[in-house]
Amino acid sequence: MKKTVRDLTLAGKRVFTRVDFNVPIDENGEIRDDTRIRAGLPTISYLLDNGAAVILASHLGRPKGRVKDSLRLNAVAKRLEELLGRQVRKMDEVVGEGISRAAGELKAGDILLLENVRFHPGEEKNDPELSRAYASLADIFISDAFGAAHRAHASNAGIASYLPAAAGLLMDAEIVNLSRAMHNPRRPLVAIVGGNKIADKIGVLTNFISLADSLLLGGGMANTFLRAKDYNMGRSLLEEDKLTQAAELLRLATYNDLNLCLPVDLVVADKVDASAEAEVVTVESVPDDKMALDIGPKTREIFSRLIAEAGTIIWNGPLGVFEIDKFAQGTFAVARATAESDAFSIIGGGDVVSAVEKAGVAAMISHLSTGGGATLEFWEGKELPGIAVLNDC
Ligand code: ADP
Ligand code: MG
Repeated sequence: MKKTVRDLTLAGKRVFTRVDFNVPIDENGEIRDDTRIRAGLPTISYLLDNGAAVILASHLGRPKGRVKDSLRLNAVAKRLEELLGRQVRKMDEVVGEGISRAAGELKAGDILLLENVRFHPGEEKNDPELSRAYASLADIFISDAFGAAHRAHASNAGIASYLPAAAGLLMDAEIVNLSRAMHNPRRPLVAIVGGNKIADKIGVLTNFISLADSLLLGGGMANTFLRAKDYNMGRSLLEEDKLTQAAELLRLATYNDLNLCLPVDLVVADKVDASAEAEVVTVESVPDDKMALDIGPKTREIFSRLIAEAGTIIWNGPLGVFEIDKFAQGTFAVARATAESDAFSIIGGGDVVSAVEKAGVAAMISHLSTGGGATLEFWEGKELPGIAVLNDC
């Protein structure tokens, strides 16, 4: 168990808080989606309500150790001020004399926001000198940046060597929920994996095969599994170089006595376009000139039945090209079934989370994970460096 912000005395303390405010920004410098800023609010409010002064640090985009004006945190500071209804002192540097002075002047309830930490070349190198400079600003380190936890960088890992280090509320929710589903889940544990490619998900698939009672596969990656079982997949997205690995995973599933479900029918079309004519076919009869773009109605029914009986559901990757309505129905049906089931449900992955939001059932899911790569690595069973550095209870 990792220490959390709730375990600490905060009154009068300066708290270096690593958040993930890596929000999408448009050409005009406007924030397109402030979900990540909102996700950080509970921890920030908790710190302020308990008498701390807060020094916030975040990355934005990939400036690669150089100052890039379009990736400054000015718009983030402004939005944070609006959301909190309090003043945020935004700095134009990451470290230095000005920052040390500003941190020294902080009083309980004050908020200081550092510039984009990735402007500093030491950040992604996890440079000890930079980590010490961060640590010198504060009494406590709180990490709330779950989305960056799979990286060992100075502001989310290195700094923890020099200060008491604990999880923020968002980080804690991620650790508790993701762990609960993986270690000691209420059974049956139904895992659902879709999305683009097997290549990105070999680790997750391997781990889920050993953990789950049922594994439901859809999306582009299911095509490669179906091909490995000798089905003709027409012009579907296929990873020819992963056929052997797909066959191995299928064998591993049998060996583990796992109920592995591949689609029995598919929605096919001749192009990935809203104007394409969609048709439902069985897996045995995918036409040579068509591609599989969604799971079919029979598959939706089989998947939904298993989901209804689940004790725990973990889901990564959409089951079709959900960006186009006529290929989104499989993903939406499974999203609804997951929302309606009594199971403890966790959904993670940038695309599947937006698909579930699009389906209008996000509020009925037990936990939507905020991490992309971090969630995948957690599900691979890896220890994430940004979590490992936090103090144990
Ligand atoms: P996540 O972000 O949830 O981890 P991925 O990034 O792995 O998911 O995959 C999402 C992408 O996979 C989406 O853009 C979706 O259009 C695509 N996809 C899903 N099914 C198919 C398919 N049958 N053919 C081609 N692309 C697909
Ligand atoms: Mg994705």
